[in-house]
Amino acid sequence: MTTTVKLLINGEFVESRTEQWRDVVNPATQEVLARVPFATGEEIDAAVASASQAFKTWRKIPIGARARIFLKYQQLIRENMKELAAILTAEQGKTLADAEGDVFRGLEVVEHAAGIGNLQLGELANNVAGGVDTYTLLQPLGVCAGITPFNFPAMIPLWMFPMAIATGNTFVLKPSEQDPMVTMRLCELALEAGVPPGVLNVVHGGEAAVNAICDHPDIKAVSFVGSTRIGTHVYNRASQAGKRVQCMMGAKNHAIVLPDAHKEQTLNNLAGAAFGAAGQRCMALSVVILVGEAQGWLPDLVAKAETLKVGGGMESGTDVGPLISCAALDRVSSLIERGKSEGARLVLDGRNPAVAGYERGNFVGPTIFDGVTPQMSIYREEIFGPVLCVVHAATLDEAIALINANPNGNGTAIFTRSGAAARHFQEEIDVGQVGINVPIPVPVPMFSFTGSRASKLGDLGPYGKQVVQFYTQTKTVTQRWFDEGDVGGAVNTTITL
Ligand code: NAD
Repeated sequence: MTTTVKLLINGEFVESRTEQWRDVVNPATQEVLARVPFATGEEIDAAVASASQAFKTWRKIPIGARARIFLKYQQLIRENMKELAAILTAEQGKTLADAEGDVFRGLEVVEHAAGIGNLQLGELANNVAGGVDTYTLLQPLGVCAGITPFNFPAMIPLWMFPMAIATGNTFVLKPSEQDPMVTMRLCELALEAGVPPGVLNVVHGGEAAVNAICDHPDIKAVSFVGSTRIGTHVYNRASQAGKRVQCMMGAKNHAIVLPDAHKEQTLNNLAGAAFGAAGQRCMALSVVILVGEAQGWLPDLVAKAETLKVGGGMESGTDVGPLISCAALDRVSSLIERGKSEGARLVLDGRNPAVAGYERGNFVGPTIFDGVTPQMSIYREEIFGPVLCVVHAATLDEAIALINANPNGNGTAIFTRSGAAARHFQEEIDVGQVGINVPIPVPVPMFSFTGSRASKLGDLGPYGKQVVQFYTQTKTVTQRWFDEGDVGGAVNTTITL
């Protein structure tokens, strides 16, 4: 009997009554690990009803009591790190080291949520008029929901529910149906840490569950991370239903390499950022622009990529694990074929690598195209595989112009030893997250994730200070108190302070 992934409703892990199920598959072996349900409409309503009910009491729980749950939670995640990483690698494919990184980047947000007392603070202006003070309260919204992608099944749910709950909201999470198991283990640990029944709920599914979340009148805010196509749909549909929405979406991240860069460091960073996690990162570097004499570094880049070991994520020494699904393998393979037919030069072909012991896995090894132009499909589409496009530019300004002409704005990086060039890049580049000799500049949680342009809809990002704003309503109070001795004046019809 294959195990089933449960729903979490009102503090209980329950079996879905649905008739629609999907297999959760190990992408390195095709072994079926579990079956995940597509929750029914009634089950989604029950999860939201439980969150609505729990909100009545949770919103009044003192801030210190909320914070202590997250102190306990971060400890439990640390204690269970190895087990979490093993579940993640089995269902998602990334290496154990990457899986620990996935959990760790989420853990950092949990640690931040434990400091909620210092984050959810209002402002006060004393004596804005005679005897009048104005101050703000940051109050929770109610039921919030999260919809997450397959590629970071630990980190991205942890971007969402800890901060939503710490700020006094209750939550309904809809994890990726491709790899929900580590997310569920993290939810079990959240309950063990003291998150009360109904404060965190989980439903599973795809399009129908997501649409039900977008439409549900009792959900006040939706956080989405995933592809641009689905994120745009979620943003439009949930906004129409009157909700706050934040959508972090697809990318095409470019790195510029100037000829004065530290060569060995740069090549290591490029290879790790382009091919690590099999390129299935929203902040993966998928285009490198070699400027001036750095154009001569292409053979070294290819040689570096060839040193990476393709294999099962559980095997020590593996650098590049499998793609998430057979469908993803087909899609990436056909994009590589399209790149060839559109005239790019395939200088490293990673298709069909021999991976001993994992003959049925969805593997593509590091792949590099040279001579890529902005018109080609491999440049326009987010490949989401270990495929790097190389573009050439004569000057830094030409490279900057190319990046600014791309619709996406998730992340970018420059490699140089020149402070002046780096500062020029920082000022002129129109991308929300910038790395200077840092390949994947995902901000730590005292900042927020700040992708821009086509990579994001909604103004506030996940985690950090911005998400405190997102998950709360600012209530501005203007107050005046009269002393017993104050004598009333005439009725004042001109309302000024
Ligand atoms: P996806 O858009 O296919 O899925 C995201 C979520 O939407 C999942 O929970 C899925 O069940 C749901 N969904 C799928 N099809 C749907 C439909 N037709 N209608 C409604 N909902 C649907 O994304 P993915 O493939 O899981 O993840 C990869 C994508 O996520 C990439 O584009 C990547 O760049 C992006 N991503 C972005 C960030 C970021 O912070 N910007 C981070 C991670 C991933």
